[in-house]
Amino acid sequence: MKDNFEQALIIAVEESMERADQFFLEIEDKTKDGPGVTRVAWGEGEQIGHDMCEAWAKELGMEISGDSAGNLYMTFPGEDREAPPFIVGSHMDTVPCGGNYDGAAGVISGLAAIQAFQAAGITPAQDTIVMAIRAEEAGSWFSGLHGGHLGSRAALGRFMEDELNTAHHNYFDKSLYEVIKTAGFDPDAIANNPPHLNPQKIKGYCELHIEQGPILIAENKPVGVVSGIRGNRRFRNCKALGEYNHGGATPQSFRKDAALGAAEFLYKFEQVGLQTLADGGDLVFNPGIIHTDPDVNGLSKVCGEVNFTLDMRSESSEILDTMRKTAEGIAAEISEQRGVNVDLGAFSVSVPAALQNDEKHRMLKGCAAMGLEATSLASGGGHDAAEFHHEGVPSSMIFIRNENGSHNPDEAMEMEDFCEGTKILAWMMATA
Ligand SMILES: [Zn+2]
Repeated sequence: MKDNFEQALIIAVEESMERADQFFLEIEDKTKDGPGVTRVAWGEGEQIGHDMCEAWAKELGMEISGDSAGNLYMTFPGEDREAPPFIVGSHMDTVPCGGNYDGAAGVISGLAAIQAFQAAGITPAQDTIVMAIRAEEAGSWFSGLHGGHLGSRAALGRFMEDELNTAHHNYFDKSLYEVIKTAGFDPDAIANNPPHLNPQKIKGYCELHIEQGPILIAENKPVGVVSGIRGNRRFRNCKALGEYNHGGATPQSFRKDAALGAAEFLYKFEQVGLQTLADGGDLVFNPGIIHTDPDVNGLSKVCGEVNFTLDMRSESSEILDTMRKTAEGIAAEISEQRGVNVDLGAFSVSVPAALQNDEKHRMLKGCAAMGLEATSLASGGGHDAAEFHHEGVPSSMIFIRNENGSHNPDEAMEMEDFCEGTKILAWMMATA
């Protein structure tokens, strides 16, 4: 019976790919924006995505519902309708002029798996919900104070006090509250009512997503099992303050060159970071912004002020804390030795989501059952799965090989790889 079940599922998933491919082509066409696609959070492109998902789910006879934030829930009834449902999904928004697959692949794979269940006559033990989530790319669309991943956090009741008003949608130039209301949903209910999802009544959450880095391409593997989602420490307002001076007349020993102070800080931080990696720690970091003021500074002037950022990410909170303290220590040292005051300012914290859980082990079993060799890898980017994990829902992620990274128009996922990932997702849904 086992062999039959898995064989039937493999064939049915392969047959569902034609419809999935058609979906990818259609949504790309409808949300095209120059070389890429744009699906604004709570905007037109995202809504087109939700409407297309709903239409397919209706074809499949699924039950449709929504919540106050506009997340879409498409339910495939299981054997026991009272049992906690298994949720799969991802987001339908993109970054501005992004790629066609980041987000959408996770929702489309869920619907393809349900189509395969119907073709193969598979009914899971509990309801399966395919969730199209709003505004995962909040970091690109919103400024002000917010915790990101706005759709899933609204559904799980994870909004901070007054986040509906402190988060500002840059594209619409409106508060989060106004944007949700204008889109036809109910921000007051988000603020005042119990959350739509009760984490204790969710069997598990599984998200398929394209890999945003180069590992699966390098290892020549179609899919990967995610070991954890990196958290971060982010210094958004670092300053090196020295003294503006004449670039020719001021002897080197008299200078307090802010540009060189910032460079020394970053070089020393990199040295410690590389040692952490050499010791086997998980860490990535980058100063994404470094600038002097071009109105004040110039080629022939000693630089008086540099503004920069520092983003560090790791699967380990301990490493993040150590590196944060290291950064502060190096800053203090340079301030003392160079006379350039390196002030890192405040930092924000995002907690890593370690996915070394039973669901990950189940997924490894699923890979074997579906005839795939599994590679484990960390997720560098944040995902809705982290929010489910932080609420105690057993959560897992599948990555699909993807060339050229993500958040750009050149994302390149092959349908063959998507098919392999969907087989694993379908297996996770069928055996939850
Ligand atoms: Zn994404």
